[in-house]
Amino acid sequence: MTTVADAQTPLSLVRRRAELVRRVATVESVTTLAGTAEAPRYVRLVLRGAELEGFTSAGADDHLRFFAPGADGVLVLPEIGPDGPVQPAPGQPRPVSREYTPVAWGGTGEDATLTLELVVHAGGHASDWVVGAQPGDTVAVGGPRGSMLIEGTPAWYLLAGDLTALPAIRRHLAATAGAPTTVLVLVAGEEEAAMVSDELVLPAGASLRVLVDADVATGSTAALAEAVTSWTPPGDPAAGFAFVAAEQSIVAPAKARFSVLGVTTHVAKGYWRLGDDEHHAAH
Ligand SMILES: Cc1cc2nc3c(=O)[nH]c(=O)nc-3n(C[C@H](O)[C@H](O)[C@H](O)COP(=O)(O)OP(=O)(O)OC[C@H]3O[C@@H](n4cnc5c(N)ncnc54)[C@H](O)[C@@H]3O)c2cc1C
Repeated sequence: MTTVADAQTPLSLVRRRAELVRRVATVESVTTLAGTAEAPRYVRLVLRGAELEGFTSAGADDHLRFFAPGADGVLVLPEIGPDGPVQPAPGQPRPVSREYTPVAWGGTGEDATLTLELVVHAGGHASDWVVGAQPGDTVAVGGPRGSMLIEGTPAWYLLAGDLTALPAIRRHLAATAGAPTTVLVLVAGEEEAAMVSDELVLPAGASLRVLVDADVATGSTAALAEAVTSWTPPGDPAAGFAFVAAEQSIVAPAKARFSVLGVTTHVAKGYWRLGDDEHHAAH
């Protein structure tokens, strides 16, 4: 139902800044959701600790920076000054971090927790670490530094991506409030497809299509691009919200499709880029 207030609020994306806070925590649990304990493909990581109290994340595709120890087991913590992260002095080790979407958080004191979900792939700093992660290991998070928020009430949603975007898709889905929603998720095989069907709780109005492409881990987004370029909005193209995130090669076809259709409120992001360590998505 469109209310008078909604009708007066044109749909737009607004950016909100947040104070950058560094929080040190310990690993509470590591659960393999796809793959095996020896060769996980998708992992849920729960962190715990008093510094997580007060953590919050306003936007569905927010990201935090996750600091994990390297192969030598050493965790280099970032320093945060009044103007943001402080660069280490020459010769000092550099903190290494990767971007992840906060999945769930809450609790107080030592019982405060934060949940992340990580795609495991060959040769990644965070990915390699999580394969051997144990309860009690020390890690840190920083941020989110800001959020992109939808102002107004979308009449429909397109939520599409590979497994790196599953946490953001799940968070967007929680806000669709019965609006017609197309969910497209790109996975590498049938086991991941079953996990996605199990993990995503589809609200009224939402339908899920899982696309299987064995070459996802080597950067193929062809099946997702094909699905996005054949998708049409279930109403006024300017009245809904489209979110697409996967390997960088999805960005150009997604933006081209939105431009042709006249979809004005959208996010199309490369959440990772083949061959690019420490990839930072354009914000
Ligand atoms: C806003 C935002 C939110 C994100 N949220 C999540 C999230 O919730 N969960 C999640 O798993 N990821 C998420 N990502 C993606 C994640 O940050 C990258 O995949 C990151 O590179 C993983 O770090 P790594 O240390 O494992 O690999 P890196 O050390 O950064 O990369 C090493 C190599 O691995 C390859 N690589 C990187 N990611 C993948 C992948 N997914 N599959 C196959 N090969 C890869 C690249 O070719 C790269 O050269 C998000 C990214 C952004 C920008």
